[in-house]
Amino acid sequence: MSGSRLLPRDVLELKALGERQPELASAVHLQLDLIEAVRRVQSRITTPWIETPADTLAARLSSGQPLLEFAQIAFDWNDVRLLIRQVTDVLRRHEVIDAPTATALHSVGRSPTLPDVMRAWFSRQATIEIEMIDEVLSWAARPYLQRTAEVLQQRVSLEQWTRNICPICAAEPEFSVITVGGERQLVCGRCHVRWAFNPIACPYCSNDDRTSIKSMATPDGLYRVMICAPCGRYIKALDGRKASRPLLPYVDLIATLPLDAAVMKTMKS
Ligand SMILES: [Zn+2]
Ligand SMILES: [Zn+2]
Repeated sequence: MSGSRLLPRDVLELKALGERQPELASAVHLQLDLIEAVRRVQSRITTPWIETPADTLAARLSSGQPLLEFAQIAFDWNDVRLLIRQVTDVLRRHEVIDAPTATALHSVGRSPTLPDVMRAWFSRQATIEIEMIDEVLSWAARPYLQRTAEVLQQRVSLEQWTRNICPICAAEPEFSVITVGGERQLVCGRCHVRWAFNPIACPYCSNDDRTSIKSMATPDGLYRVMICAPCGRYIKALDGRKASRPLLPYVDLIATLPLDAAVMKTMKS
C-alpha cells in the first residue's frame, strides 16, 4: 500500500484545516470537490493484473528505468471521460477556469483521440495548449495510476532507486517527507508513490551545493521548504520529526499554500 488512496481521513483533515484556517477555505472546498469526483470512480476500479515477472521488474529498476508503461495502465475510458467532465465542471464552478476553457476541456474528454492525448501527457510530451489540461488529465488518470502503482509495489522493492524521478511512472516529485531518522522521501506528483532521495540535494537539478540551497520552515516546524538557487525551483516537505500524523498529499498540498506564498516573496526579494 502506498497509503495514497483517498481515505476519509484526507476529507476529515481537509475539513478541519478549512475551519482552523478560514483563509484556506476556498482552496479546501475545491480540493474536497475534486476528491469527491475521483472517489466515485475509484470505488469501481478493479485491480489490474501485471504479468511482468518480479525479477524483470527488479532488473528494470536497477538499470534506472521506471516500471510503468502506458499500455499497462488499465484505463476504463468511459470513466476517464466522465472524470474529465466532472473535474472540468468543478474547476469551472470554483472559477478556476473560464467558460471557453471549460468547453475546450470538455471536448478533449469527448474526443476519440483522448487515449493519444493521455499517452502524450504520460510520456511528458507537450499536450494540447489548453489551460489546466495537465491538471485535468492528472486528476482523471490518478486513480488508475495509483492502483497500478500499488500492484507493482507489492511485486518489487523500490529501496535501491536513487534517481530524482518516480520509480513507477517517471514523473517529478511534488512533495517530500523528512523521516524521523532525518532521511528524505520524495512523493510523486502523479501516482503518489514515495522513494528515498539524497536529503541535501535538489530533486529537480541534483545540485547539492549547500551554499546555493536555502531552507525555510513554518513557525510550528511542521513543514519545511528547500529552495534551489541554480534551477529556481523548490520542494516542500512534511517534517516527520514534528508531525503527529503521516503525510496526506491531498491535505498537505493545501495546508502549505501559505508556504508557497512565502517562497514567492523571498524569490522576488
Ligand atoms: Zn509516480
Ligand atoms: Zn535545483
